[in-house]
Amino acid sequence: MNAPKHDLILLGLGSNLGDRRAHLAAGVSALGALPGIEIRQVSRLYETAAWGGPKGQGPFLNAALTLQSRRLSQVELLSAILAIEAEEGRVRDVANGPRTLDIDILLCGERVIAKERLVVPHVAMHERSFVLQPAAEVAGFMRHPLLAVTVAELAHEVGMDGLLAVISERGWFHALGQSTCK
Ligand code: AMP
Repeated sequence: MNAPKHDLILLGLGSNLGDRRAHLAAGVSALGALPGIEIRQVSRLYETAAWGGPKGQGPFLNAALTLQSRRLSQVELLSAILAIEAEEGRVRDVANGPRTLDIDILLCGERVIAKERLVVPHVAMHERSFVLQPAAEVAGFMRHPLLAVTVAELAHEVGMDGLLAVISERGWFHALGQSTCK
């Protein structure tokens, strides 16, 4: 089940532990280095209050990006994402706890995927402003295939709840020297 070339994949990224920007930049760089992956657009950084999980955890930096995968299937991309998260020191001990790097597959074109390991559209994307605000910046035109609305419409609906700041530095992900974004 390789994704056809025209499938645009939307990812959400977040970090609230350690050097948050460096973890996110390393994540973008590692994604761009995967075989057959072409990163299309990367959002600005959004600082957001932590949602759920243990009380008192620090704010997140969130971002979103779009990419096309010419070789990896969606499940292979998920496996690569889990390896990238582990490489950045992600430890899964507390549910919704602090994390160095979290990468979610939000949309794969208008596909609906319901596998044991992978559910797309991501089950909670439509209710989270920290996901939808950066996602709308890079993929407002993409459609949620189950809700039949665009990402921009979903972002408008959830509003700016929990948004602390938008860091308007568009090239933040070049911090580690990656240059895959066109
Ligand atoms: P998380 O704690 O959000 O990093 O959850 C990661 C787990 O969620 C992985 O082990 C995946 O198998 C599962 N998962 C299911 N659907 C998705 C998705 N759309 N994107 C990322 N992880 C997913």
